[in-house]
Amino acid sequence: MNLHEYQGKEILASFGVRIQRGIVAHNAQEAVTAAKQLTQETGTGWHVIKAQVHAGGRGKGGGVKLAKNLNEVEEIAGNIIGMNLITPQTSAEGKKVHQVLVAEDVYYPGESETSEFYMSVLLNRATGRNMIMYSTEGGMDIEEVAEKTPHLIFTEEIDPATGLLGFQARKIAFNLGLSGLAFKEMTKFVASLYKAYVESDSSMFEINPVLKTSDNKIMAVDAKVSIDDNALYRRKQYAEMRDLREENPIEVEAGALGLNYVDLDGNVGCMVNGAGLAMATMDLIKQAGGEPANFLDVGGTADAARVEAAFKIILKDPAVKAILINIFGGIVRCDRVAQGVIDAYKNMGTINVPIIVRLQGTNADIAKELIDNSGLDVQSAVQFQEAADKVKEVLA
Ligand code: GDP
Ligand code: MN
Repeated sequence: MNLHEYQGKEILASFGVRIQRGIVAHNAQEAVTAAKQLTQETGTGWHVIKAQVHAGGRGKGGGVKLAKNLNEVEEIAGNIIGMNLITPQTSAEGKKVHQVLVAEDVYYPGESETSEFYMSVLLNRATGRNMIMYSTEGGMDIEEVAEKTPHLIFTEEIDPATGLLGFQARKIAFNLGLSGLAFKEMTKFVASLYKAYVESDSSMFEINPVLKTSDNKIMAVDAKVSIDDNALYRRKQYAEMRDLREENPIEVEAGALGLNYVDLDGNVGCMVNGAGLAMATMDLIKQAGGEPANFLDVGGTADAARVEAAFKIILKDPAVKAILINIFGGIVRCDRVAQGVIDAYKNMGTINVPIIVRLQGTNADIAKELIDNSGLDVQSAVQFQEAADKVKEVLA
């Protein structure tokens, strides 16, 4: 589950990570009030107004702007709230901005230059260990750094038995070229950041930039935080932070029905039981020259109600030109699934796309008979390849 920057920062702060402070505002007037309050608390006269949407690259899209007085706060916040923010990470239509973070300006001049670093904490799936990735080249172009100068990105792996060790935090501060107070601050920052990552059950932290201020403080200016969905049952306070407006509406609806659905760009809707079979089915569709429109695992109990729910979800995607149902009847009997497909089809009234059904496993032969004799515009297939060939045919 992804969070907004302001929510991510709240979590970081609760673990003692220093952050650029800010207050959320939903309209221009709230933004002015927030700015006044921040001035009282931090002494800052300048503020940055930051669009809160689930997408990076907001700065590049005009979603992060500096305001030098309250009039500018009002004007900028008024412009950003309600806009469709288009960034390199959103679709072409962009994302609607419902709220902004009014934050203290932390790029003030002082005894030394400010520096922007990159830091993320995530799981290295190859080694099964958490790692901290970091770079001196922080700021808005980290993707380009990763592509063109990958040697400027360092990684530090953490042994789960010992946790992050002191020397590792010092190594990171050293590699970032810090000394004196900033060095000390960075070791503290890294230690509390790692603690926050582990204890919040996060699956990803990306802090870009981590800022060294002109008075040598180290703080998180941005925060991209993802909480592990599987841990939300024991992190209720984070589960409540979920903002459904930021998520794909079809995926949200499917989730509420207990369906495991991921929206994709293609034109062949898939209804499959079991994640492994779903992946294999998507491969097969690609091989046959189609593109899967979705990943959909209906789960072990593919009864009529679930099949119907799955149909409805798949058909919400206007790009779908054919549906391939590929069910293995292990726990559930194929004839029951077939009856479910037929019932669902009849209940739905009109389905304007061709449907290919492959049912294998217990009572597969009875299932095929049911489908073939149903009088509905549903084709059955026995072999995996046969199903793919039929998909190819109907798309041609
Ligand atoms: P992103 O573009 O979505 O990654 O949003 P960020 O939160 O990283 O902000 C984008 C950029 O805005 C940063 O890289 C900074 O250069 C700039 N920025 C953020 N906070 C401040 C601030 O307090 N003062 C100034 N002058 N610039 C800031
Ligand atoms: Mn950023």
